[in-house]
Amino acid sequence: LVRLTDVNKHFGDLHVLRDINLTVRRGEVVVVIGPSGSGKSTLCRTINRLEPIDSGSITIDGKELPEEGKDLARLRADVGMVFQSFNLFAHKTILENVTLGPVKAKGIRSAEAKQRAMDLLERVGVANQAAKHPAQLSGGQQQRVAIARALAMQPKVMLFDEPTSALDPEMITEVLDVMTALARDGMTMVVVTHEMGFARKAADRVIFMDAGVIVEEASPEEFFNNPTSDRAKDFLSKLL
Ligand code: ATP
Ligand code: MG
Repeated sequence: LVRLTDVNKHFGDLHVLRDINLTVRRGEVVVVIGPSGSGKSTLCRTINRLEPIDSGSITIDGKELPEEGKDLARLRADVGMVFQSFNLFAHKTILENVTLGPVKAKGIRSAEAKQRAMDLLERVGVANQAAKHPAQLSGGQQQRVAIARALAMQPKVMLFDEPTSALDPEMITEVLDVMTALARDGMTMVVVTHEMGFARKAADRVIFMDAGVIVEEASPEEFFNNPTSDRAKDFLSKLL
């Protein structure tokens, strides 16, 4: 569903993604881990062209991502993204946050968008908060709204960049539970996270990145029980 071929990216002199080759199959959950600065966020951002790449190709559902124009908007709608900071529209209600994209970008009728938004808010467990504004919700609730908002665009793949890093411990579980349910429902997901419990439980495949390179790619069992590279061993030893 998502295919990156020989993707390279620089920020000035910094070679932040080096010959990245990655295929994510339909329904697969790929967890990306690695030290700070290894290029995980940049990888996510290139997948929906928030960041241009210098060379290589990225396809979603067999289609090359265009640089600009209408096609880019359409293809970007296929890729939902959830960030560390929830990025909700502060002056809109929870319900409006979830209906805005479908109404504006996809031309869905308001009544239908509302119905779908309520279903999604129900699914992530915050339907009773629909009339409130983001500041009135806890961090965990806001992040679940952000997930519902991304899902409202009916994406083919969901990207999560450290979705629980800004949350208090007691709120992490509620967000991870929503993500686990989404994975079980067959959503294709790329998840950057430090939550190794989630990686073990929900990942079909773990990608370990260091210094812009995919150093290791394995099933969670293989990766956590038997990492092959010294860099992955070193990284895992520091987590314990
Ligand atoms: P973290 O775990 O801290 O989130 P990361 O693996 O997500 O790290 P990236 O954010 O992808 O790492 O950054 C990779 C490298 O690129 C870092 O050295 C970072 O400083 C640099 N970088 C990221 N964004 C930019 C930018 N817009 N301009 C210049 N350098 C950048
Ligand atoms: Mg990052």
